[in-house]
Amino acid sequence: KKITIAIDGFSSTGKSTLAKQLARQLGYVYADTGAMYRAVTLYAMQHHLIDAAHFDRESLVAHLPKIKLHFVFNPELGFGEMFLNDVNVEAEIRTLEVSNFVSHIAEVSEVRSKLVEQQKQMGKDKGIVMDGRDIGTVVFPDAELKIFMTASSHTRAQRRFDELTAKGQSITYDEVLQNVEERDYIDTHRADSPLRKAQDAIEIDNSHMSREEQLDAVLELVYK
Ligand code: C5P
Repeated sequence: KKITIAIDGFSSTGKSTLAKQLARQLGYVYADTGAMYRAVTLYAMQHHLIDAAHFDRESLVAHLPKIKLHFVFNPELGFGEMFLNDVNVEAEIRTLEVSNFVSHIAEVSEVRSKLVEQQKQMGKDKGIVMDGRDIGTVVFPDAELKIFMTASSHTRAQRRFDELTAKGQSITYDEVLQNVEERDYIDTHRADSPLRKAQDAIEIDNSHMSREEQLDAVLELVYK
């Protein structure tokens, strides 16, 4: 019988890696909610609604009805790529610039309610693995399996640094660590659905776990 799997946790804990592996193993749909917040952030940047000096929150709220998000499954990658108003933005939403602004966009309650509504719709059929910050608490409070992932900020910054430099972005480890810690702070302190472990979530600290060990541990929970 197919279930709903909610995966929450801090940034760069490997949530999406685990979620993708699970979806592939189980034949489930994978939905990356961080990509949706990132796409709204990219939209705000493209329309000059946010930069290092200012954030025009009211205009962003006024633009929301014009922001259309959807995933298109890419069989080569094995998951859905993010489209913003019918343009594939999968690569553009992964830059450090987007990462620097996204937590501010995610604080806007109108943004959250729009995206949460769409996420609930995506989960109407069982057999979905969704990752984010509020999946077990807000989007799918009745999910059969909830995982909460953590790892030390050093481990996470190192992973993120390796990922970004592999893609050719020129940044320092310290810049990445600072971004990781800032996002943790904003994500856990925002007024609206702050990041927290759902009461019935199972916590996994993967600072010292391989991807295989982690996948096996979670599959065991699925089949239990
Ligand atoms: O998961 P990812 O790091 O791509 O998410 C980017 C940002 O989007 C997070 O730091 C957080 O601010 C926001 N987010 C959120 N709620 C979610 C998913 C992501 O607020 N469900």
